[in-house]
Amino acid sequence: MPKARETVLEIDLNALEHNYRYLRSKVDQTVKMMAVVKAFGYGSDVVAIAKKLTGLGVDYLAVAYTSEGVSLRKAGIELPIMVLHPQSYNFEEIINNCLEPSLYSEFVLKEFIATAKKLKQKHYPVHIKFNTGLNRLGFSEKETGTLKELLTGTDAVKAASFFSHLAASEDWKEREFTLEQIYTFKRIASQLVDALGYRPLLHICNTSGILNYPEAAFDMVRTGIGLYGFGNEQQEDQRLQPIGTLKTIISQIHELQKGDSVGYNRAFIASKPTKTATLPIGHADGINRQYGNGRAGVIVNGNYAPIIGNVCMDMLMIDITGIECEEGDEVIIFGGPQHATAFAEKGNTISYELITGISQRVKRVIVEK
Ligand SMILES: *Cc1c(COP(=O)(O)O)cnc(C)c1O
Repeated sequence: MPKARETVLEIDLNALEHNYRYLRSKVDQTVKMMAVVKAFGYGSDVVAIAKKLTGLGVDYLAVAYTSEGVSLRKAGIELPIMVLHPQSYNFEEIINNCLEPSLYSEFVLKEFIATAKKLKQKHYPVHIKFNTGLNRLGFSEKETGTLKELLTGTDAVKAASFFSHLAASEDWKEREFTLEQIYTFKRIASQLVDALGYRPLLHICNTSGILNYPEAAFDMVRTGIGLYGFGNEQQEDQRLQPIGTLKTIISQIHELQKGDSVGYNRAFIASKPTKTATLPIGHADGINRQYGNGRAGVIVNGNYAPIIGNVCMDMLMIDITGIECEEGDEVIIFGGPQHATAFAEKGNTISYELITGISQRVKRVIVEK
């Protein structure tokens, strides 16, 4: 790997392949895999990820918003793409780009049927989402009668899948709740399958669902965070490989005397002679102020160097007293020797928020052997 010469997020496609194969091995080989690539591929490089996953044989992609699906189509991605959270305003664009909407309420289902009719569609694939306890989006069990009427009353759309989302699949204390969600989903799905006379794909598992409830894989699983190398628990983290390494370099080194201060509001005051380094990465890049004032640190030539003072918009300062290093040396923020989960914890957050928060200003560099 060439040394970083500016702030970069390296994306390791070999690690992605490892994670994909590992997650696949957890479920029956007939189970389809839907790769969740919303939010720029969890903050990585969505087009590179989608292309690699296409090559690996993934069955489906999922994005959150319509615009994300349109970008993938513009980049030449031809896989089926589910849009998890479309608005009725987007429906023509969805059809014109061969995207498949998740329909989660009577209102959006009716609106989508009307749009599909208007654009003269037949059996347009849609995904019906059920609320089984997350209370975020989805039809409730008592709406199955209405759903049956709407779906059998038109040939403009056809249910490609029925699905639901688990609220706490990573949390063993909520095992009973999760099993109840799975049971409720099964009950709703079988009622509707009987009513419709055909069986769409059924799916409920996200990454932690695959790892902790593989018996609930049904016909398809939806994996996001696992593909990017995080398992939501230490044991699984060890089997997966984070695909991203966030690197930067030392812009400048300062020698401070006792009493000198560092950064805005003079938040750090040297209690002894101190060597500091300034790095070209700040809260506008996704390293928010929670990481400052000694709460987190970075890796400089194999040594831990705490972040001192307040994180600025475009820079942060670290204490490199006693560490051998020079201006221009590479610095690792997370990845490799510093697991992103551990780094995220120091900022009072989780891997999901840390990696999706690395802003588009940071250059993405694809690495593949
Ligand atoms: C984001 C999302 C996923 C992926 O979850 P992970 O925990 O990242 O695997 C799956 N399903 C839905 C509905 C989602 O919104």
